[in-house]
Amino acid sequence: MDKIVSLARRRGFVFPSSEIYGGLGSSYDYGHYGVLLKENVKARWLEAMVQERDDIVALDSAIILHPKIWEASGHVSGFTDPLVDCRTCKKRFRADHLGDEQCGRRPSKRPGETTDCDLTEARQFNLMFETRVGPVEETGQRVFLRPETAQGIFVNFKNVAQLARRKPPFGIAQIGKSFRNEITPGNFIFRTLEFEQMEMEYFVPPAAADEWYRYWVDERVGWYVRYGIRPESLRVRAHDPDELSHYSSATSDIEYLYPIGWSELEGIANRGTFDLTAHTESSGTTLEWVDGGSGERYVPAVIEPAAGVNRAMLAFLCDAYDEETVGDRERTVLRLHPEIAPVKVAVLPLVPRDAGMAERARALHAELRRVMVAEHDDGGQIGRRYRRQDEIGTPWALTIDEQTLVDETVTIRDRDSLAQERISIARAREHLIDRLAAPWTAPARAGAADA
Ligand code: ATP
Repeated sequence: MDKIVSLARRRGFVFPSSEIYGGLGSSYDYGHYGVLLKENVKARWLEAMVQERDDIVALDSAIILHPKIWEASGHVSGFTDPLVDCRTCKKRFRADHLGDEQCGRRPSKRPGETTDCDLTEARQFNLMFETRVGPVEETGQRVFLRPETAQGIFVNFKNVAQLARRKPPFGIAQIGKSFRNEITPGNFIFRTLEFEQMEMEYFVPPAAADEWYRYWVDERVGWYVRYGIRPESLRVRAHDPDELSHYSSATSDIEYLYPIGWSELEGIANRGTFDLTAHTESSGTTLEWVDGGSGERYVPAVIEPAAGVNRAMLAFLCDAYDEETVGDRERTVLRLHPEIAPVKVAVLPLVPRDAGMAERARALHAELRRVMVAEHDDGGQIGRRYRRQDEIGTPWALTIDEQTLVDETVTIRDRDSLAQERISIARAREHLIDRLAAPWTAPARAGAADA
């Protein structure tokens, strides 16, 4: 993980938040390449969920919702973690994670490991952030920052079902920020106070719920593999009955083998009819499906694939990270899927002082950036420029050299194989568009990252 954190920082993907004030735990800011990478993850998800299908529509609901929504959903009473305090070291721990946590003393110990540890009984601690709406703090209405995007979807069920004229099975997909007052110190961007979720609620006839649940587990595993995650780094773990949330009859986690071990990347839950029934009872508005033709009516069951953008981004970074020795040089390379990579192509004039090369490089860059994220780099030796692009995962580099001035061709260098071939400048744009659209699988790792 240290290598990923250091690369992310060095190349401006992710910075610790509020750093000049000493930082704020479990909070991160995303720099230029981090933003581009994160936007690509979201775009690929939305494509797979909405653009490539006929049965799912998009939604963007508010972050601050009516507080009764969180009562009906069970979050006010039940969205809690059990916490214990240590009276000796004054630190607070998740009672269910004591084996993974570090006590406050040096040399560090597990909480409860020594006779000096004086742990309190576990108390339930709600994870929702509270704030107030209204100009006067004392009289303002108490509201919450949403801890998941799903509830904004359920309360819009009627609007969408009517206006989009959809009939089950159909889904509503949403990407947006969620907030949780997590007290376990995060492992980099794995667990943070605010994060983005990509959630889709799929409404189905209750009798078909189990079938659709299994369908969505397979679909979602397939999505990660499609975008380059190695299948051997993924596994599906079904929850034991005593692990299930109050609303769920079945849940599976898609886990990724992060450097911290197998951990949840995405959860797929069969939520049954819990949510629509709860909001019907609490709001007085009936949330059900009514068939205009036959008059048949029922409360649909819900299958929910819920993914974290930041956890997905971390999985893509971990899976892509590689180090290898080429000749007598070491290089670090992010072998990202081209559709996930922040920058698709770099245009590099070999001798920037040469007016002919500089002019052609500028023109080619201007042409390419209209259709994909392209960088122009004329600073420093060519080897250093390649290594910089390798570290941010740019799949292709186009180099303008002396021969370009003679025959209007450029070399295209492949990030993974390091193969170089010459193509004509006139065809470069088309060539890259074709390569971007071609299927891609992760090449074998050189090995250092597995060690
Ligand atoms: P965990 O058990 O790790 O706390 P969870 O089971 O509470 O996660 P869900 O409520 O199922 O998580 O949320 C769906 C997804 O949202 C998770 O699979 C994860 O990718 C993401 N997620 C949840 N909490 C966080 C967080 N604090 N920081 C980053 N991502 C998160």
